[in-house]
Amino acid sequence: MNKSFYVTTPIYYVNDMPHIGTAYTTVAADALARYHRLKGEEVFFLTGTDEHGQHVARAAERHGVSPQEWADRMVVHFTEVWKRLNISNDYFIRTTDPKHVEVARKFIQLLYDKGDIYLDTYEGWYCVPDESFWLPSQLVDGKCPQCGREVEMVQEENYFFRLSAYADRLLSHIESHPEFVQPEIRRNEVISFIKQGLTDQSISRKTITWGIPLPFDESQVMYVWFDALLNYISAIDYGLDEERFRRTWPADVHLIGKEILRFHAIVWPAMLMAADLPLPRQVFAHGWLTVEGEKMSKSKGNVISPHELIDEYGVDAYRYYFLREFSFGYDGNFSRENMTGRYNADLANSLGNMVSRVLAMVERYRGGTVPEPSDREEEPDVALRESAARVFPEVDRSMERLAFNEALQAIWNFLAAINRYVDETAAWDLAKDPTLSRRLDTVLYNMVEAVRLTALLVVPFLPATGEGIWRRLGFADPIHAHHLPEAAAWGLFPPGQRVSKGEPLFPRKK
Ligand SMILES: [Zn+2]
Repeated sequence: MNKSFYVTTPIYYVNDMPHIGTAYTTVAADALARYHRLKGEEVFFLTGTDEHGQHVARAAERHGVSPQEWADRMVVHFTEVWKRLNISNDYFIRTTDPKHVEVARKFIQLLYDKGDIYLDTYEGWYCVPDESFWLPSQLVDGKCPQCGREVEMVQEENYFFRLSAYADRLLSHIESHPEFVQPEIRRNEVISFIKQGLTDQSISRKTITWGIPLPFDESQVMYVWFDALLNYISAIDYGLDEERFRRTWPADVHLIGKEILRFHAIVWPAMLMAADLPLPRQVFAHGWLTVEGEKMSKSKGNVISPHELIDEYGVDAYRYYFLREFSFGYDGNFSRENMTGRYNADLANSLGNMVSRVLAMVERYRGGTVPEPSDREEEPDVALRESAARVFPEVDRSMERLAFNEALQAIWNFLAAINRYVDETAAWDLAKDPTLSRRLDTVLYNMVEAVRLTALLVVPFLPATGEGIWRRLGFADPIHAHHLPEAAAWGLFPPGQRVSKGEPLFPRKK
């Protein structure tokens, strides 16, 4: 049995509202999951919410509800926006799910039995909103180095995970597997962090009640990060259904934001090593988005909700913009002007207009029925066919590196080739001369065939658009029944099939 392609997003903190940064990771994961499905692979795509910790408990208290009620109320913000963004996750995990709690307790018991967990006194600074411990030397002006907020001094008996014992194995794994932490800049960061020496991690809290109680000491709850990381294996039934677990684990890629790199590239693999589990193939950290040149923050009031942009541009334009504009792995700047520019040039013009023009010509010159091409090929036909043959391998190479922007660039180069073909072959001139009728048949067929390939290529990124084009092309079966690379072969469009122009895909914006 083939192993599923397993892709994850981080589980999002249920106290926060989804914003364009959260959606960036999730949309990227979705495009990747859909792309692998398009290639005919079995895929497991996981997202979810992180629901334990002091911050959640305090928010619940402020609102006069139980932490569970608070989490139940907040989780909807995530499930709703993912539904709207057409996110095709196979499962949504919540760390308050009984299954997750059971797996997390089994896991920590295993490490305790192996001697990798011990009791000691913890003293140090704690940032409640980030749920992070800091050394005095890490504080910036006495405040949390990550968010700049006040930290609290905590001193208590905690259980510690023997992270230091795994430093050498971890370092040698990262050094011998260049793909394990990506991009390169993050890999170097992790390597130098490990080389500075790893200290054992406090993994439980005594004074907090909103969390998973430790099976070997019910007076303490699991530290939220330890709890949260385990979602990646609890979702696929670690310790519950061995066969299912083996079919899915290890993850092919954990997509994360760079702020949680330490947990995913150091703590998580060490936890897995301690449990004798294989490590994920890759941890890929993307950059941060600024808004109109400024860092997004609640205090600046410039946090953008995905809903706001979806209302304005539509779901597929939203997905397209973030995947096309930024180089995944690096920081990027969001600007409305830029988004409108991309919308008009790439979506309304190169894609939407082209599809309308092609299908309108089939309607006008052949009553909507796609003609049979002749077997005489002219120069522009060869150029178009060759361009079509190049595009899938290019997209595939880019997607292998999670270079979403380059994959889309390759597709848009193909769209440029189709637009060139439309102009060069000038079907409107051919239509005036009855002796060129067979030539017109060939030209119309080639254009429609290129549109068919376009639908398949864009569908992982712009699902509704791909499906919409597919319907306009008159196919009765769903686009998802077709797989690349087989379906990318030139000449598969069935002559005689009726097409219709339909409504414009992306009406121009001012
Ligand atoms: Zn903080």
